[in-house]
Amino acid sequence: MSSFEIASIPTEIAESVRKTGKAPKYGFPTHKETATGRAPCRHCLRLIRVKEEELILFTYDPFEVLGMPPLPGPVYIHAESCERRVGANSIPEEYRGRLLTFAAYGDDRELVKEMRLANGNEDEAAEKLFANPAVKYIHVRSTDAGCYLFRLDRA
Ligand SMILES: [Zn+2]
Repeated sequence: MSSFEIASIPTEIAESVRKTGKAPKYGFPTHKETATGRAPCRHCLRLIRVKEEELILFTYDPFEVLGMPPLPGPVYIHAESCERRVGANSIPEEYRGRLLTFAAYGDDRELVKEMRLANGNEDEAAEKLFANPAVKYIHVRSTDAGCYLFRLDRA
């Protein structure tokens, strides 16, 4: 049994970005282009296909409703409508074995612990962090790019 589930960015955010061409909250203009390198969509969590699919780059605060201070950064989504990935209880295949940082937050956005992964065992790392009752959720980031990927919530 897994103690966590995946949460990608809300569909309202993805749809608003596609429709308005502006970043939520900040209002910065978005950027749209055909994917040229590894670009994970933060909504469906699949990789945007290089030279085939278009992406939208925008500024996003993954703490939205979770607390202050915000930590805005660049993220991608598919330019076309896609299905939100939510509720899965293991790290998606596309992210396994990558350089990932798991930042575990507690009440009032306090950083409880950070783990840097390089060789897989993502699910075990998440279980270990959630074994600490102070941990409320985990933000998963790319260690080399620093960008926010998705959140793990307690199941
Ligand atoms: Zn997508």
